[in-house]
Amino acid sequence: MTNRVSSMPYEDQPCERCGSPKRISKKWTEILTTFHSTSKLEHMKIVCTNSVCQEAFEENLKKDAEKRDVVRLAKEEKDKLRKANSLLKSAARAKN
Ligand SMILES: [Zn+2]
Repeated sequence: MTNRVSSMPYEDQPCERCGSPKRISKKWTEILTTFHSTSKLEHMKIVCTNSVCQEAFEENLKKDAEKRDVVRLAKEEKDKLRKANSLLKSAARAKN
């Protein structure tokens, strides 16, 4: 048995959110040069042809990025506090 969906190119598959056809909005190649070889990477930006769906998707992406930022900032803040606390502790220890 062959899985026809996964053998289909990604851009030919219907949108997983609304079922509309997708289209390639941007295509570019990137040349990566390493110490002994050069490789070409092909990138594609695929969007949904349903603009309402695509806008909602980009809105979600933005929200996700903001959420990640908040989590990262909270973690940095905590790390700072922990560092300050351990400094205080070692200062107190030094006094004794
Ligand atoms: Zn869609």
